[in-house]
Amino acid sequence: MKRTILSVLAHPDDESFGMGGTLAKYAASGVDVHLICATRGEAGEVDPEYLEGYSSIANLRVHELNCAVKELGIEPVRMLKYRDSGMTGSADNQHPQALINASLDQVAGEIADTIREIKPQVVLTFDPIGGYRHPDHIFIHEAATKAFKLAGDPEHPGNYPPFQPERLFYHTIPRYFIQFNVRLLKRLGKDPTKYGKNHDIDLTQMAVDEFPVHARINYAEYKDRKVAAAACHVSQGGHGLTRGFVRWLSWLLGARSVDQFMQAIPEPNSMSIKEDLFL
Ligand SMILES: [Zn+2]
Repeated sequence: MKRTILSVLAHPDDESFGMGGTLAKYAASGVDVHLICATRGEAGEVDPEYLEGYSSIANLRVHELNCAVKELGIEPVRMLKYRDSGMTGSADNQHPQALINASLDQVAGEIADTIREIKPQVVLTFDPIGGYRHPDHIFIHEAATKAFKLAGDPEHPGNYPPFQPERLFYHTIPRYFIQFNVRLLKRLGKDPTKYGKNHDIDLTQMAVDEFPVHARINYAEYKDRKVAAAACHVSQGGHGLTRGFVRWLSWLLGARSVDQFMQAIPEPNSMSIKEDLFL
């Protein structure tokens, strides 16, 4: 039987700075790995030098995303047509096309349609706090969770017949890494509640939210693919502290070449930690 994974994310670079190692590993083992990206990353900070030859930040970032998808060895990305929202309080959040201003039902319906079309056994998305509380990540977490249920609901209309995937997983960030860094920042005299360029990332809150881990995927053999994919997002590798933060998280996640997942559906009936999302 053909094995298929669908990863549902928000921005160009979420795949490479997040669960890219897992996606590359499964793609290399013959699984059809699909990616939905909800926005084109319009709100990302880009140094002008990277924009040369591109008509917009969105075009540049989609170009970077296509490069990353090739490096990961997964299927061509499926874009939704929403606009990147910024962190809480950002002016980008006022844009009428901003993802966070969209209808949750509509976005979930679009994702459910893709689920019915490609029939994945496994669906992956952000954890309930979107990794680091990015509003778009939280929105996509909610939309993908809703879509997982809608796809199998015969009452839900759509362009394809109902299909119910088997498992829904949330990618989570190891808390002890964050707790370690909270202590480190305090020792350095920095305020861990006001981290990032806009001082809008509260690491202490991230260190508190704990999600259970039901699967650990070791992608050490494919780490070079994740590194190559992350390198495609050259415009996001600059000096901004927010970007620095995302890179730092990426480094934390990549330090042991292990991705952690919480199994949301069905609720796991054993405490043992899986090493395969299909088992
Ligand atoms: Zn993101």
